[in-house]
Amino acid sequence: MIKVLVRFYEELNDFIRADWRKQQIERQLGHCTTVKDLIESFGVPHTEVDLILVNGNAVDFAHRVADGDMISVYPVFESFDISDVTRLQERPLRDLRFIADCHLGKLAGKMRLLGLDVEYRNDIDDEELVAAVVNDKKVLLSRDRRLLMRKVIDRGYLVRSQNPDEQIAEVIKRFDLGRQLQPFTRCALCNGMLERVEKAAVLHRLEPKTKLYFDDFFQCQSCRQVYWQGSHLAAINQLIIKYDNRAQ
Ligand SMILES: [Zn+2]
Repeated sequence: MIKVLVRFYEELNDFIRADWRKQQIERQLGHCTTVKDLIESFGVPHTEVDLILVNGNAVDFAHRVADGDMISVYPVFESFDISDVTRLQERPLRDLRFIADCHLGKLAGKMRLLGLDVEYRNDIDDEELVAAVVNDKKVLLSRDRRLLMRKVIDRGYLVRSQNPDEQIAEVIKRFDLGRQLQPFTRCALCNGMLERVEKAAVLHRLEPKTKLYFDDFFQCQSCRQVYWQGSHLAAINQLIIKYDNRAQ
């Protein structure tokens, strides 16, 4: 029997039992285990963890805990300077490609409107999601904690909110995407790339009021869906304002 002390910091407390939050938790273990398994036994997926200190030293997920260890577990901080120690989530986070689980269709559509690359199908199964992370190096967005605990999932984020606008603010903050947003470059329906089109070319597909009030149009190169800077632009601006407020 070994005894360890574990403390979770900042938003990692979202995942654990209320009476364990923001304090040292004593845990007795019947056998030696990895620090990954220990952390996940509290309900915290390893994809949320960026730094683990055992007795003050940074360790990786495979580290085996020992009797008397004091273990501090920190989330991903984009703006937190821990550059001298081993960060466990891969960097740099550039040109990210995402895959969203079947519950996150609205989030996927909104992310695409901001130009982010998000694969999504409402009938996608867990094995396809895992394959996209492992083979295609995509980042998994999911509300399924168990799925994010799988060892092969090395890039992921557990979406907390059920509200799509709050979800997108969460994702932009977590992956520091504020400077990468490119509205009107990607199709909300199919993730295809948009191109600018002449109004005359799509005139026959427009409602009378759209014909009257709008002049700038974009079309998806894959599914041919037409976009214009009307209601879509207002929705995008709302999202960006929301992000800016949270970033301050
Ligand atoms: Zn499309």
